[in-house]
Amino acid sequence: MINSQLITPRNIVVVGASENEEKPGGKVLRNLLEGRFKGEIFALNKKEIAINGVTYVSSVQQLSDVVDLAIIAIPAKQSVETIKELIALGTKAFIIYSAGFSEAGEEGILLEQELIKIIDDANATLIGPNCIGAINESYKGVFTSPIPEYDPFGCELISSSGATAVFIMESAILNGLRFSNVYSIGNASQTGVEEILEYMDLNFDPKTSPKVKLLYLEQIKHPFKFLKHATSLIKKGCKIAAIKSGYSEAGGRAASSHTGALATSDAVIRALFKKSGIVYCSSRDELISVASIFQTKALKGKNIAIITHAGGSAVMLTDVLSANGMFVPALDPKDTAELLTHLNPGSSVANPIDFLATGNAKQLGLIIDFCDNHPGIDGMIVVFGSPGLFNVKDVYEVLEQKMKTCDRPIYPVLPSLMNAKREIKSFLANRRVNFADEVSLGKALAHVQSASKVNFYDVQLPTMDIVTIRSIVNAAKNGYLSTIDTEELMLAAGIPVAKQLVLKKAADIQRLPTNFNFPIVMKVVGPVHKTEVNGVRLNIQSVEQMQEIFEELMQIPTATSVLIQEMASGEELFAGAVKQGDFGHLVFCGFGGIFLELLNDTSYALAPLELNEVQEMVRSLKGYPIIEGYRNRPKLDEEKFIDVVIRVGSLVHIAPEIMELDLNPIMLSEFGIAAVDVRVRIEK
Ligand code: ADP
Ligand code: MG
Repeated sequence: MINSQLITPRNIVVVGASENEEKPGGKVLRNLLEGRFKGEIFALNKKEIAINGVTYVSSVQQLSDVVDLAIIAIPAKQSVETIKELIALGTKAFIIYSAGFSEAGEEGILLEQELIKIIDDANATLIGPNCIGAINESYKGVFTSPIPEYDPFGCELISSSGATAVFIMESAILNGLRFSNVYSIGNASQTGVEEILEYMDLNFDPKTSPKVKLLYLEQIKHPFKFLKHATSLIKKGCKIAAIKSGYSEAGGRAASSHTGALATSDAVIRALFKKSGIVYCSSRDELISVASIFQTKALKGKNIAIITHAGGSAVMLTDVLSANGMFVPALDPKDTAELLTHLNPGSSVANPIDFLATGNAKQLGLIIDFCDNHPGIDGMIVVFGSPGLFNVKDVYEVLEQKMKTCDRPIYPVLPSLMNAKREIKSFLANRRVNFADEVSLGKALAHVQSASKVNFYDVQLPTMDIVTIRSIVNAAKNGYLSTIDTEELMLAAGIPVAKQLVLKKAADIQRLPTNFNFPIVMKVVGPVHKTEVNGVRLNIQSVEQMQEIFEELMQIPTATSVLIQEMASGEELFAGAVKQGDFGHLVFCGFGGIFLELLNDTSYALAPLELNEVQEMVRSLKGYPIIEGYRNRPKLDEEKFIDVVIRVGSLVHIAPEIMELDLNPIMLSEFGIAAVDVRVRIEK
């Protein structure tokens, strides 16, 4: 619901304006004036205000014209009346700084509801309340500093917290990052991150729109709207990095299965970001590093050359890159022999390339050219500071020159924030960024490189018997599905289950179908956790043994019948899904048994899933080498497992009444796959 009055207002009124720049109503006037807002600025206050460039009014009635945008800096309680008057006059956009709304308890919640209704009814836009405002090309509508110089290709920032937005900008600007539009959404009572992304998406112009978006979020109210527009923007060439703080409960989940216990709200957010192609960050520092990488030429592979005169930095960088899935490939002495002749004695060209404290600008240029032409290198990190003995201006000039002309990205780490302060400043003046810490850069680089490529729109559901699935789920009551319904549901979804049969009376044992082969497994039907009540008996060889065990199992409290299954062989894996409120279902897969309990070897993604996504999930498991056939063990049927995980994702997509689905274990061998324990909980 963002309108043109918010983005390009013809005029602005500050309600609660002040001459005192230490007050929000004073500081914003200063920011609007210094930001050279082109329209008329009205300062509304009962007390007269005399500031050059602003028109004083003592009441809404005194406004001579319709005012497009009102910035409200008066207490919450008084603001509602004034907003009504402004709406009557035709105002269509509001930025409300005032706190004291829904974040302040019962009374505030009611006040905020009243406010939203008034603004919605008028078809107007609201930013806030409880925020620091907005910055864009036409005006600087915040009461804080710093105000970044407007750069049409700079980062766009959306922040739930005004203070955090300021902190992010403060350190980002020092690193050389540039900004375009900034939105502090506060309580986001009408306009949230979803609406802003929607606006950016619908108005996107590949030639003129900013491409990098940074988000600091405390809440995602409409996950699918968020996913839709974030995905679409990334498809159009944008890059998004986000911090989500505050692990809120995403949906009513009861952890009666392993899968249920795995689905933390942090997992949901990570899954949502991954599905949209957003880079998840956990600190301001990381967000700024990722944003700086976004503003550098794209890295096309994982092979990095480290170029430095600082041995320690090179070691730390090599460690962090290697530990996070990137490579610092050793260079062949045959290839580097010529380069070495131009460097000072003692230099090393093996990668990291260390050209020593005595290395100079010309040598740096030669090294960069060498790396840019080396087929085994995708990007370069140059760490170059100053011990305070000499000026590094010429070195940074070469660096700047090479960053312009080289095909591959160069990431500058200029750590001498004091000794080379002036040189860094002139380097940054060329619209460059500086990564002050090499380890933060290394981590962020790996993070960006491993962020998934968007696939949300491409999901194709496998063929399943939808009519049967829907009829079972429609007829089901809340709670666990019966063993028979569960088996039928799996059959309809195309998920293989071990051959099985439910026995109600001991006499049924005599009438076993002839195609049932020993050894078999007998399980009590009734208790949810069967092993815990000694309700699972494996490797049963004869009818006599079956009869004995049948009697034993039926003695277990809450036992209703006995399930017999053929023994399945293979490794124990698991797959499952848990509903997470508006986020839909989180689907998990991994190794079952002790792997799950001891090592938590699982991966997850939001349903529905597509092939690439599940391949990545399976390959990221620590135990994946076992699936591939570790040492002399047979290679397991990976494709069948991937297919089951895809089907789990599709099943819960088609039947969202499934609250929890747990296939634990699934027996996977070289010959096939069979789920031997399936639990489905319905909640309507
Ligand atoms: P629960 O999870 O309720 O304790 P399961 O049905 O998962 O009961 O059985 C417990 C364990 O018994 C499984 O993890 C698996 O090791 C083994 N098991 C169960 N059914 C079979 C089967 N059909 N073939 C081989 N092993 C089985
Ligand atoms: Mg089980």
